[in-house]
Amino acid sequence: MEAGQGQSRAIRTMRRGFALAAGVLVAIGVVFSWLSWQAAKKHEALYLSATAELSGKSLDSYFRHYEHALHVLARELAGSAADAERMHALLADFRQANPDLLFVNLLRPDGQTLASANDEANAKLPYYGDSPSFLHGREELLKGETLDIGRPTFGTLAQEWILPLRFAVRGPDGQLVAIIAATLPLARQQSFWQDLQLPDNTALGLIRDDGYIVSRFPTPRTMSYEEIYGTPRTGQGYDYLKAHGFPERAVAEGYNSVAKADYVFAFRRLPHYPLTMFVSTPINNIVAAWWQQMQFAFALLAALLAGSYAIYRWALQHQLAWEEEKAQSAARFEFLAQHDPLTELPNRLLVRDRLQHVLARASRTGSKAALLFLDLDHFKTINDSLGHPVGDLLLQAVAARLEECIRDTDMLSRLGGDEFVIILSDLDRPGDITVVAEKILGRLLQSFAIDGNDLTTSLSIGIAVYPDDGADFDTLLKKADTAMYQAKAAGRNTYRFYTEQMNIDADEHLRMRHWLRQGLEHGYFVLHYQPQFELGSGRLVGAEALIRLQHPEAGLVAPERFIRIAEDSGQIIPIGAWVLHEACRQAAAWQRAGLPDLVVAVNVARVQLLRGDLEQCIEAALAAAGLAPACLELELTESILVANTQNVLASVQRLTARGVKFAVDDFGAGHSNLAHLKHFAMGKLKIDQSLVRDVASDADSAAIVGAIIQMAHGLGLKTSAEGVEDAATAALLGQRQCDEAQGYHFGRPVPAEEFTQRYGQ
Ligand code: C2E
Ligand code: MG
Ligand code: MG
Repeated sequence: MEAGQGQSRAIRTMRRGFALAAGVLVAIGVVFSWLSWQAAKKHEALYLSATAELSGKSLDSYFRHYEHALHVLARELAGSAADAERMHALLADFRQANPDLLFVNLLRPDGQTLASANDEANAKLPYYGDSPSFLHGREELLKGETLDIGRPTFGTLAQEWILPLRFAVRGPDGQLVAIIAATLPLARQQSFWQDLQLPDNTALGLIRDDGYIVSRFPTPRTMSYEEIYGTPRTGQGYDYLKAHGFPERAVAEGYNSVAKADYVFAFRRLPHYPLTMFVSTPINNIVAAWWQQMQFAFALLAALLAGSYAIYRWALQHQLAWEEEKAQSAARFEFLAQHDPLTELPNRLLVRDRLQHVLARASRTGSKAALLFLDLDHFKTINDSLGHPVGDLLLQAVAARLEECIRDTDMLSRLGGDEFVIILSDLDRPGDITVVAEKILGRLLQSFAIDGNDLTTSLSIGIAVYPDDGADFDTLLKKADTAMYQAKAAGRNTYRFYTEQMNIDADEHLRMRHWLRQGLEHGYFVLHYQPQFELGSGRLVGAEALIRLQHPEAGLVAPERFIRIAEDSGQIIPIGAWVLHEACRQAAAWQRAGLPDLVVAVNVARVQLLRGDLEQCIEAALAAAGLAPACLELELTESILVANTQNVLASVQRLTARGVKFAVDDFGAGHSNLAHLKHFAMGKLKIDQSLVRDVASDADSAAIVGAIIQMAHGLGLKTSAEGVEDAATAALLGQRQCDEAQGYHFGRPVPAEEFTQRYGQ
């Protein structure tokens, strides 16, 4: 219902309104999502930062605590130099006071253990000078560090992963004189964090500036300690720190090479140690949390969208229905304004309007148009005796019958009461009007069965013709009205033209049809034959059969006066059949009488080809006469070939296949088109008399005819000249290679007996 039709403004507005609302909702959704995503990230960053901050601070003070305790121990150890017993006791006390520490040893800077808090180590006093972990820690202390928090390593004595702490014992000159090495089991240090409620995949830990992880919680299940602690970290978290010079606090996003995912990191540098606390969580966590919160908002947004769409659809349907209703009532209103409510025929207003168009077109094309004024005879009597309802029904029935009598392009209208008007357009000849008028009168002769009554009625028709009688509706209507009164005066149930000559023509038309009927009934038709000669040899090659009506009252009537009328009335079909039979019979008779072989040419009308059973008729005529098909030539005018090409082409092809010949008649009289003829297997082109007439006197005509002949030959057509009236013309046509000729110069059309006498020998 929506598509295709022109949209009203209201619908366009609605559509735009909905699009706008949807656009705004979506825009709100996008902005809101973006803002809330930013907020979610910020929130997460805050949480991570806070965690890093707190953990960092507490770790820092944890290590500070050991630093202080070791400081005190160092001082005491310095006071008891070289007293092994004392050193052992001091170390053992210290260990007891700091149960987190597993081993506490005092080492010489070269790595040799001097004393240990642990008995098993004390017994062995192991040498660490070749331990990379020790060497690395000593390096840091030599650089000036007081407490070195080393890289985690697997303690061979402890049999677990430990974090080594090394404290510098310096002499009065600041020189490194000994190292206190304590080991803090990683698990012990990590128990620091065990109560933290961390989201999935969230981790925290400490990283040294050289990229080694000092501690990480929780320990990833998929990695070994060796993998975690044994190699320095690379990846965007550490890279970020390094690139930014190990900042005090930072939040960064980057790829976590361990988890192989994008992470958010929060960093907090420990205030007193070259270590950075990190907390990291995968971005997916934030997305998940964000989505958790957003679900409701999205659902709400979707509901709003769906709701507004539903409202829009609902409003649209309503609007469409309303508009359709409005359009319908407007159309009805318009219809009523221009139509008669009883018969629903156009009223005077509409018919006047339409006539303007008809007349405009007629004046352009030079055709005629007619206005018929129709008035029912004695309608008042019916109305008075049977009542108005019956009268109304009769009017409707009459209107329906009138409608059947006219073409779609014509127009029937009711002016009011028992008056109707018919507009006939595109008329070629006044005869067409008579045909319609006759048809109407004929159709009204049949009675009407109305409301149980068998009613008979008739019409009187007045006719005015454009342009003869007037050029506008009012004039034509007035004149048709006048003519209608003449029809009434003439005894009703008849028609009258406004112009007297037209009445005469109409009478002639009627009379002719009457004569034609009589001609068929009583055999008044005769054929005259005109000889056709070959120009080169002067040999008689054919005879064209030309019909005449030999009427007892009218005398010999030429075909020019009646062929048209016979075509209009359909009488040409029986007439044409008679011609074919008669011409074939005559040709066969001449053959038997020993005349030279002649082709008899018969003119065929358009109606015969389109409506009649021409092929059967020809077969019958040939069979009845016993004539060979090759002795029959059919003359068609070009206009027949142009119209209804497909059917005509098929007929022509079938007949040609049978051997029947074809000629194009009157070529050059109408809209001639040689190219068009290519499709038809026409044997001969008969050049119209209008072209042939001036050939001898006018060089242009000669040139045109010469060209036609050449082109026809090019298409494989023979040529024949019609209406050759003198020797000069005949000679010139011969020079131009015209094949055949026909005309008064050679012989007029004559009755068959005369033809036999003349050409018999
Ligand atoms: P058409 O077929 O072109 O026939 C030639 C017409 O030219 C004939 O007129 C003939 O008498 C006339 N004519 C021949 N030579 C000359 C001449 O040298 N000078 C002049 N001025 N006229 C010449 P006709 O017999 O009056 O026939 C007129 C037309 O009627 C024919 O033209 C043809 O179209 C039609 N017609 C004749 N017989 C029949 C028929 O049996 N059936 C049909 N459908 N049409 C026919
Ligand atoms: Mg002819
Ligand atoms: Mg002709």
